[in-house]
Amino acid sequence: MSRINFYDDLRQEIKQTAADNPYYKNICAEANYDFDTQLDETNLEEVPYVNWAAFKESNQLFDKLLRIPFEELSHWTISSSTSGDPSIVGRAPEDVKVFQENYKRLFEQFSYMSTIQKLVLFSPSVGFMNRMPGTWMGKRGFLFYRDITDIWNLDTTFLLFLNVRKLVFHLLTHFKFKTFIEVDGKALLKALKDIEKRQIPALVGNSAPLMFKTFNDCKQAGQTYSMPETFRVQTGGGGWSGVKGRVKTDPIDKAVFIESLSELFNINSSNFADCFGATESPTAFGGHWSKTYGDFLLHVEKEHAQIILRSIDTFERIRDVKEPGVLEIITPYGVKSYTGLAVLLDDIVEVVDFNRCPDCGRENVIIFRHLDKLTPQSGKGCSSYTRLFPFAEKKKE
Ligand SMILES: [Zn+2]
Repeated sequence: MSRINFYDDLRQEIKQTAADNPYYKNICAEANYDFDTQLDETNLEEVPYVNWAAFKESNQLFDKLLRIPFEELSHWTISSSTSGDPSIVGRAPEDVKVFQENYKRLFEQFSYMSTIQKLVLFSPSVGFMNRMPGTWMGKRGFLFYRDITDIWNLDTTFLLFLNVRKLVFHLLTHFKFKTFIEVDGKALLKALKDIEKRQIPALVGNSAPLMFKTFNDCKQAGQTYSMPETFRVQTGGGGWSGVKGRVKTDPIDKAVFIESLSELFNINSSNFADCFGATESPTAFGGHWSKTYGDFLLHVEKEHAQIILRSIDTFERIRDVKEPGVLEIITPYGVKSYTGLAVLLDDIVEVVDFNRCPDCGRENVIIFRHLDKLTPQSGKGCSSYTRLFPFAEKKKE
């Protein structure tokens, strides 16, 4: 796929999306967009974009962002929500396939997915996520994260579970529904000891705050591991600010995270990878740790997607490196069923290099760092979660 095709495909997809979807057509009209515009890296800011907030359930627009009748959707893909107001994105089977391929590619590039034999995830099982309730307009919705977890398809220890006994007790005492999610400390120890003993390629992944707190508690309890060189840590979905989904902890210094987990597992900082993705876009970006920058450097492969940054105040395009701006993701791939070809997110990032990674030397990539979220995060609902940190509890007992 050459870059010439990317811009041709993008031009076609803008035209088609406007033809399929009145909401997007209107955005194009308001922007006086000329559908015959020859696009390239220099004028991507002209592409009419959808604000991420349009996908929020509370705005009741999510079905108006579809390009196909909702009956033809595979399912709604739902973001994990801090505020109780998730994004709802309708996707046809072919679009589900595209974003799954995108995530596979980044996990392969940054975490050697195909070599991994054991997965330890700070997440509920796929079976549990399949049983989570959620129907919109009579169509099932599933966490976007479920479809990403599903691509791994190997021996996995899922560490989050629902404590049904507590749930029933709470129902009886409070007459309302609250969930009790716990980290399975026993399963974690068992999985880690097994990986250490067998020295197999393994990956522990998901939410940085949950991992950080749990593994720090392990360290303080005197645990250390001598993991194989093929042991990797994959973070994703942000959470460095200390809020992820409904879990609230203190903000996490990424460098301290790397140092702390490196010590616990006796691994190098090169064994850590991060990824950035959003439910509203089919693309995802992988990143490796950079000692020089003291941060993860995220890579945008230009043949699959482009990003631009916009000024927080004026929404004008930012063209300089090291200048923070709001992230907009642009791609014509994986958006056949909804208006997702250009989405302005609520993430503040800065570009490190527009063409090449200064650390690993990869070419034809935009390198960026994730700095912050624009939307204040409340971590609302965290009080309904107990025993998320089993080792911390054990110490207190
Ligand atoms: Zn790199």
